[in-house]
Amino acid sequence: MILNYMEEIASRYLEKALKDPRYASICKCDYCKEDIMAMSLNNLTPFYVTTKRGEVYAEYSSYEVQHQAEIIKEVIRAIEFVSVHPNH
Ligand SMILES: [Zn+2]
Repeated sequence: MILNYMEEIASRYLEKALKDPRYASICKCDYCKEDIMAMSLNNLTPFYVTTKRGEVYAEYSSYEVQHQAEIIKEVIRAIEFVSVHPNH
């Protein structure tokens, strides 16, 4: 099975960021979350990995640490854009 590990990481950071009190008042419906994810992923380099179901991604944790700052920056940028331009 092939997946974009960047998507996994970005989605995790997105959920975390949306719990931040700074974003307490923004819309968190599925449309907005998908728009935020799409926008973040368009600005981040995909990182495709092969995996068996349920496998732990321990071997990629250094990749995540290395790119953390960049991923957080893009997720926050997308949250701020979508929250002022919601698609509904
Ligand atoms: Zn919404």
